Amino acid sequence: MMQWENLTAAEFQESLRKGNRVCLLPAGCVEKHGPHLPLGTDYLNGHKICCLAAEKEPAVVFPPFYFGQIQEGRPFPGTIALSPTLTLELLLEVLDEIGRNGFHKIVIYNAHGGNRHLLNYAIQSCLAERKPYAVYLPERRYTDEQREAWKDVLESDLHAHACECETSISLANHPELVKMDELGDLKADALGRGDHLPPGRTSASWYLDFPEHYAGDARSATAEKGEILRDVLVDGLAEYVRIIKQDDNVPRLLAEFYNRAEDVGMYNHRTPRPPH
Ligand SMILES: [Zn+2]
Repeated sequence: MMQWENLTAAEFQESLRKGNRVCLLPAGCVEKHGPHLPLGTDYLNGHKICCLAAEKEPAVVFPPFYFGQIQEGRPFPGTIALSPTLTLELLLEVLDEIGRNGFHKIVIYNAHGGNRHLLNYAIQSCLAERKPYAVYLPERRYTDEQREAWKDVLESDLHAHACECETSISLANHPELVKMDELGDLKADALGRGDHLPPGRTSASWYLDFPEHYAGDARSATAEKGEILRDVLVDGLAEYVRIIKQDDNVPRLLAEFYNRAEDVGMYNHRTPRPPH
């Protein structure tokens, strides 16, 4: 397993030379997780899952990346919510830096639900100018079998934030940081304060349902469940990396895409033509 930050410069170069050109970027955030989980829950778990997956299928794991989309966490102490545009630009520059260091394939492992739209937009944004890398954003549970295995383990229905599954995985990964005493008998169903509206989202949607940044029922969480769930995630990610390593279509067709876009005229004053 290779954690970027643990390698010497020479080891880093040697690993590239051996053809290790897939980088895993665990994308988390820093936010309240109910009354019982640490602020860093998402990036701690995401980084751990990436490291375990990279033991099964070699890849370099980027250091925990905890500047996520978390504007909805502003009412709670300890949240790190950079401005929306900086959050996007920071992520895009980090992707460019990973690419500049020689990685052709970057897999973003999303460990925070609130990052979903940011990450989708970021990978679309990579089409605005030619990149020497492809970005991949896997689903967290990959096959029907894995989804079933996940459901079999859990006792509660709502899984959204600091819930049974997230708390269980936290208990498996870093039990010393989980305060089940603080949870007491607390669960958090959606309050439904937007249910009178037609389907759709509003900027208040998360807050309407979960104003205490807890969504689900963590009371039945255990480390044993967490180990099973974590294995599902780790195996799924390792398998995903194995498949994209062998795939040539994405890089080849991306190159074709950039060529065609350049033929039409890709560059202007905001995106100048890169030097040849
Ligand atoms: Zn979380």
